[in-house]
Formats: sequence, C-alpha cells, structure tokens
Amino acid sequence: MSYVFHRHCHAQLPIIDRGEGVYLFDKQGRAYLDACGGAAVSNLGHSHQAVKQAMLAQIERVPFAHTGFFTCENSERLAELICRRMSDQFNHVYLVSGGSEAVESALKMARQYFVERGLSEKSQFIARQQSYHGNTLGALAVGGNEWRREPFKNILQPSHHIAPCYAYRHQQSSESEWEYSLRAANELEAKILELGAENVMAFVVEPIVGATAGAVPATQGYFRRIREICDQYDVLLIMDEVMCGVGRSGHFFAFEQEEAEPDLVCMAKGLGAGYQPIGAVVANDKVYQAIESGSGFFQHGHTFMAHPVACAAAVATIETIEQQALLQAVRQQGARLRQELEYALTGLPFVGDIRGKGLFIGIELVADKESKAPLKVSTLADKKLKQQAMENGLMCYPMAGTIDGVNGHHVLLAPPFIIQPNHIDELVTKLARTLKEVSREW
Ligand code: PLP
Repeated sequence: MSYVFHRHCHAQLPIIDRGEGVYLFDKQGRAYLDACGGAAVSNLGHSHQAVKQAMLAQIERVPFAHTGFFTCENSERLAELICRRMSDQFNHVYLVSGGSEAVESALKMARQYFVERGLSEKSQFIARQQSYHGNTLGALAVGGNEWRREPFKNILQPSHHIAPCYAYRHQQSSESEWEYSLRAANELEAKILELGAENVMAFVVEPIVGATAGAVPATQGYFRRIREICDQYDVLLIMDEVMCGVGRSGHFFAFEQEEAEPDLVCMAKGLGAGYQPIGAVVANDKVYQAIESGSGFFQHGHTFMAHPVACAAAVATIETIEQQALLQAVRQQGARLRQELEYALTGLPFVGDIRGKGLFIGIELVADKESKAPLKVSTLADKKLKQQAMENGLMCYPMAGTIDGVNGHHVLLAPPFIIQPNHIDELVTKLARTLKEVSREW
C-alpha cells in the first residue's frame, strides 16, 4: 500500500536506494545503467561531490530567502554564468523551478512585451505539431502532442501548430535538404499570414525535438529562415531548450549550431542536473528593455523562483561542465555512442532511423524499413521496451506517438556527460538485447 499518488496508479516501481556515477541502485541492490538521465536531467551522474558541497554550503548559510525581499549571490552568479555563454544581446535571466514554469514565464513575457509596446492585439502563439513544452495549462496549450493535449483540450487556450522539421518523415526524395528546410520554415510565414501578423505574438520551438519525437534536429537553414520570418512580422522567437540545452547537444545551447538566435530561451532539466529542480528564461535586451522602460515589473512570479539552493546546484553544475571540459566530452562520447549504435542496430529490421546530436540520440522503430510504416500501436512497444530494459539493468526512454501523437515509436537516449567508453559498450549491448527480446512479440 502506497500513499503516494504515483504517475501511473498501477505501476510497480522499484524503490531507489542510491546513485553512483552513471548507475542507480534500488533497495534490492539491483544496478541500472542510466542511459536517459531520467528524462535528460542527470547530466553529471548521480553522485557529484562538487554539486552536493555547493548545495550544502548554501543551506548552511541560508536555505531560502524570498525574492521579493532579497537577491542572493548564487542567483546573481548563475545568471551571469548563463549570459556569459551567450551573445551580448542576452543580459537577463528569469529563474524558476522547472521546465513548465520556464515555458509559462516565457509565454507571459512575450505577451507583456507586446502589451508594453501598446500592441495588445498580438495574442496568438504558433508552435509545432509533435512538440512538448510542459504540462501546465499554458505550456500544454502551445505543445503540439495530441495525446497529451486530448483530455484537456476544452480548457486549453487556442494555439496554432505547423508541421515540425522532421526530415526522416517529411523530406521528399525529390527535395534537397535546403529546399526542404525552406518549405518547412515557410509554413510559419503562411500561418502568420493566415492569422494576421498583427495578432501573432511568438513562435515556440524546440531546437531539437525531445520527448515527443526522439531527438529530431532541424535540417540546415531551417532556423535561419525562421528567424527571418519572425523579424519580418514582429513575432518573437521562443526556443525551448528545456531538454536539449545545457550541453546535451555538445554545445551549451543547441541553437548555437543553428544560424539563428532566439529572443527568449527556456532552460531547465540539466541546469540543476537533477540535484535541484530549477528552470530559467533568458531574455534578450529587446524584450527586457520593453518591460524595464515600460511598467518596470514583470507581472509574474513564483514563491520558489531563484531558490538559493537550486541556484547553488546550477552554478556548480555549469562550473563543472566548464572545468571538466564536458561539452567536448559530450561531442566525443556522443560520436562514439552513435557509431556503436549504428554498428549494433542498423541491421535490425525494425530500426528505421538513428538521429540526434551529442549525447541526445533517438532511435525510431518501424514495422518496415522501406515504407517506414510504423509498428502497430497495439504492440505497446514503448511500455514493453521500458520494462524489459529495466529487467536488463538499463534505463532508457521509449515513447509512442512519434509520428502524430498516436502512431510511431522511438527510444530516446540521454546519458550523463560523464559516461565512459565501457559504459557505452554496456549501454549498447543491453539496448540491443532488449530490442531483440521485445521485438519477438511484434
Ligand atoms: N519543454 C520541454 C522541451 C520538455 O522536454 C519538458 C519536459 O520534458 C518541458 C518543457 C517541461 O519541463 P518540466 O517537466 O520540468 O515541467
């Protein structure tokens, strides 16, 4: 009997006991290799001393001071560390407690930006199908994953969705990558014109689609055209880096690999590496100055925003990434993992695509490689894979609905940045074994 209202009422979950490096151990002493960082969270593994010490030092001085009364050294330091990694257009960070809060804050910041400018009619968001931006009502409303939206549809603010940039499924064989990028990005322009530019506030997008589509990066030139369109129609570009940011792609921000800068960036998950819940919105000067020189007050706020202990953990996380050259490690180990996965899995008849960047990799599963027909929904491949992987001592993140929220399956991998070659061997061996075992029933 459990008094906890779990995510799944009928799931039998092992009880976690302790973490050590890239492994988690349950109360029965079983080890699990963490190949997904939970949900792309545990970037430094599970026992990082520097982060724990930084949190302890903050708790011993003062565990909490409300941001309506005080600022704190760790929040100031964290905001500076984040801005130093960006162009000189970014000088202000709004600190919250998670990804959904970051997205909610960015949506309201976008709205207030236009209200401050006297453009109150700008009230519509455009996002993409198959995106996920969080589970609070505002973030869920802009998200484009039908399955997640369905039960709550009637209470969601209307928002608008264009197709994702998803080359494996949507690029035609007659099209070059550049032509496809342009076609996909121009859907945004068409949608803005349909709604009227005077009504559109912002375009919300994950630079690399995470949970809902399995590490799908944009094709080259896509974001350059998106930026042009946003500029032309006075629409803010909000990039949601909650999952793909803080180094996961091999660069601190995933958008660094694109030819476009956002106006607002959302961060969370890896920012505190799981040691503390924390999220952030980084605003460019254009947005910040409209609010600063207007009402001078962002009409938002949460009790636990800029929590001192969470900020201490995030400062230590970023300093560790910098001091231990972990972005380079992500690129190196990511290339190795990708190569080993391709070697072990490409020959399997149900592995359609292996994609992603850095240590953020998606494996799309299909019933037929040639036609790319998805596995039947009734295979419950995602649930069975997750369960069997756990049986085999592996945590990975399989998901259904890859193509349209219902059809399609993928497995997402997002291991800690401290992963070593021997762990990669173990990961690939266990994943290949799991896939082969479960696929016998497809
Ligand atoms: N945005 C993206 C891209 C995410 O992947 C997630 C969570 O998976 C969120 C937002 C929501 O973050 P949280 O679960 O911390 O509220």
